[in-house]
Amino acid sequence: MSCPRCTAAAEQLASSPVPGVWEILRCVECLYMWRTTEPARRTTRDAYPEAFSLTRSQTDSAK
Ligand SMILES: [Zn+2]
Repeated sequence: MSCPRCTAAAEQLASSPVPGVWEILRCVECLYMWRTTEPARRTTRDAYPEAFSLTRSQTDSAK
């Protein structure tokens, strides 16, 4: 799974008490967090709002 905001790798932070229902993921670069059951506009790059999307150079310059 990659970050919908900046496309970097994501790590799993938590998972649902009932196995396999959802996971909470966090981007290793921009720290965006989402639950896998959220709508596509929050979970996939293609549907993520362009106005809030980040490129690698933007995340690098924000550090
Ligand atoms: Zn990110």
